[in-house]
Amino acid sequence: MMQEYCKTKEKYKDCVLFYRLGDFYEMFFDDALLVSKELELTLTGKDCGLEERAPMCGIPFHASEVYIKRLIEKGHKVAICEQVEDPKKAKGLVKREVIRVVTPGTTLDATSLDESKNNYLMSIVSLEDHFGCAIADITTGDCFLTEVDRPQKLLDEINKFVPAEIICNEAFFMSGVDTEDLKDRLRICIFPLDNWYFDDSLCQRTLKEHFHVNTLEGLGLQDYDSGVIAAGALFQYLNETQKTALSHMATIHPYTADKFMLIDSSTRRNLELVETLREKQKRGSLLWVLDKTKTAMGARTLRGYVEQPLIDADEINRRLAAVEELTQKPMLREEIREYLNPIYDLERLVSRISYQSANPRDMVSFASSLEMLPFIRQILKDFEAPVLRQIYEDMDPLEDVTNLIKRAIVEDPPLAQKDGGIIREGFNPDVDKYRRSRTDGKKWLAELEAREKERTGIKTLKIKYNRVFGYSLEVTNSFKDQVPDNYVRKQTLANAERYITQELKDLEDLILGAEDRLYALEYELFADVREKVGQEVVRIQKTAKAVAALDVFASLALVAERNNFVKPKINENGVLDIKGGRHPVVEQMIENDMFIANDTYLDNQKKRVSVITGPNMAGKSTYMRQTALIVLMAQIGSFVPAEKANIGIVDRIFTRVGASDDLASGQSTFMVEMTEVANILRNATAKSLLILDEIGRGTSTFDGLAIAWAVIEHISNTKLCGAKTLFATHYHELTELEGKIPGVNNYCIAVKEKGDDIVFLRKIVKGGADKSYGIQVAKLAGVPDSVISRAKELVEELSDADITAAVKDLTAPKKKQKIMYDQVDMAQMSLFDTVQDNDIVDEIRDLDMTHLTPMEAMNILYNLQNKI
Ligand code: ADP
Repeated sequence: MMQEYCKTKEKYKDCVLFYRLGDFYEMFFDDALLVSKELELTLTGKDCGLEERAPMCGIPFHASEVYIKRLIEKGHKVAICEQVEDPKKAKGLVKREVIRVVTPGTTLDATSLDESKNNYLMSIVSLEDHFGCAIADITTGDCFLTEVDRPQKLLDEINKFVPAEIICNEAFFMSGVDTEDLKDRLRICIFPLDNWYFDDSLCQRTLKEHFHVNTLEGLGLQDYDSGVIAAGALFQYLNETQKTALSHMATIHPYTADKFMLIDSSTRRNLELVETLREKQKRGSLLWVLDKTKTAMGARTLRGYVEQPLIDADEINRRLAAVEELTQKPMLREEIREYLNPIYDLERLVSRISYQSANPRDMVSFASSLEMLPFIRQILKDFEAPVLRQIYEDMDPLEDVTNLIKRAIVEDPPLAQKDGGIIREGFNPDVDKYRRSRTDGKKWLAELEAREKERTGIKTLKIKYNRVFGYSLEVTNSFKDQVPDNYVRKQTLANAERYITQELKDLEDLILGAEDRLYALEYELFADVREKVGQEVVRIQKTAKAVAALDVFASLALVAERNNFVKPKINENGVLDIKGGRHPVVEQMIENDMFIANDTYLDNQKKRVSVITGPNMAGKSTYMRQTALIVLMAQIGSFVPAEKANIGIVDRIFTRVGASDDLASGQSTFMVEMTEVANILRNATAKSLLILDEIGRGTSTFDGLAIAWAVIEHISNTKLCGAKTLFATHYHELTELEGKIPGVNNYCIAVKEKGDDIVFLRKIVKGGADKSYGIQVAKLAGVPDSVISRAKELVEELSDADITAAVKDLTAPKKKQKIMYDQVDMAQMSLFDTVQDNDIVDEIRDLDMTHLTPMEAMNILYNLQNKI
């Protein structure tokens, strides 16, 4: 057995091998050491023909799911090796095979999956100058493929999907993507595969075979050479790990990343799209506000929408029209939502049906969900928005499937598949016959009992049943003498004896035999129904997608109605005009409708950059985020929190907002800030929206101000960037730029002074703030009075040395030029200073390096230093 074990293990080197022995899965050697440590199990040993016993540990097979889940969570793969023949019938060793490999991206265990999230496996092939990328969720059958040309864009895709697992070629580790960060921060498991997985023709063949097509054009993949390689490797990996036909992975959707708004990872986090920055929870995120979906499929789809807003005006308008119609017909919408409510996760159920792992109860839940479809279609029939019409068309009522399940399976079946009680009366004559012989059997037994009582005169004679011994005639000890000759003793109890007769034996065979046959037949019929339903996977998946989309639009409509959102107008000329805008999340957190609405206006002409000043806590970042969120919501197809909104489509949103959880990544805050700024400046276009909060804060005042200034100059230069920008700063000096750099305008968030204190008005107004009110805010925060009054004294003293004066000088046109030239001259002089020191240069040049001892070198260096 150990030899067999080793042979199997050889094939699954990178997995923990769960080796089935009777009622246990056993692990040996290194696997045993690893698992005993990871799961805190007792380590034992087994004789294995070697000098030392093999380390071994085991888990009971019925509890395996929990242990597998824990190992997967720790980033391991588990290969499950089962006994594939009945041990009773086996000659010699029982045959064993690996029936499935469970990995983080391919787990089907319902307890470890979040139903409102997809569980993605991503395959990445890093080629010379670009990447192919394929993404699949085997629990729903979703499958996508794309190509990107830079590591940064690949990172954007990874952050969008946040896969549980990445498989890749070795080159991926040298491609410039920080894989350690992916492992640590996003907790993605990364497994490299051998190079042959990524062989071009093998990959093409795999895809053609899987999708039953002759050419890749049939799948629309002709222009995705490297995407095809990634997808081919993905399907080979799935075939190897799942070992089933994967018929539910029926389509693959190629897409280009520029079909969607580009949102980089830090912007995703900063805008708290699907989870909050600090607590990493849904409550407090945009998704939390928008998600009133009724089904798991709807929840996943909405998350997908939030993760990838659109950039095509027509598509956005189509979605908006659907939401609008659902807000106009609230009664019908709520009726639809009532019918959506009891619908189970059709996508995951149909995947389990394809995997033949759905149990009888799953099938009943499935049918009861499908029963809602005709009602929903009935209501939807009269809706006019094209997207809703399409949903109506795509939603197959699937009555044949529902009927089959309803006809075949009882209303409340057991979980177990092999203990009968599944098939409905009248579905199959043989089932009915076996069932009858079971009930008739009971009658026959009663008759036999009565007859024997009569014949023997034993009044206490009873027919008993026991799982081990079967049926018997029980006679209490006091009547033992009256037992007739044809009774054969079977079992002795304390106060009775049990016997069998030929007649009873025959009856027993009939009854128990009927039961065995009944259970086997019921299972067979059940499996057959499941398979038939499985054959309809494509229709079911299409319907599930339609249900999901309807759920999303109904949710968006309800949210719009409840929160007073309006339908945005979409334009393509870059004007962003929001009247009375609100922050969708903050307004929910603030009690008594106290949120103060604000306007935003930006365009590609004179109002490109808004420099926003105002004290801390005034509401600058709330205002900027709300603008970004309103744009993003509009591009999802959602109504927006405003009185009126005209949204110019943006191609990407970038944010650089305060210090976040950067400390954990081991980089200095300033370094992180500048890396993000660099990324923004390199990638923003005239169609982008930038939210920049306190750039330059992490360094000295002069450096910080200089950097912030230069950044504004760069952004507002339409030849270099020209993006619409909200720029919050505590450097008042930057308000000097208004009127001097085209497109730059000042705004501030109003505060009212009340004696020594300030009151936040939360209203954005034209103009720059003239004071920072830092001391007043510190006072509000409870800093002791003594410190506050000392700070006031210092402010008085320092104000003379203010840098504002210097800045004013700098912005005066002529002087600015001069200062710049001065800077250049100084830089050049210092360069020449060192180079012109000819003595030293000559001395170094003349050194004969090959014949110098270390000591001589040290002395020369010492002398040189003295000359400087
Ligand atoms: P800043 O960025 O200027 O330091 P924030 O945007 O962080 O200020 O706002 C501070 C707090 O003020 C927020 O947590 C929020 O509770 C409140 N706030 C901000 N904007 C508004 C508003 N428009 N209406 C009501 N409260 C607001």
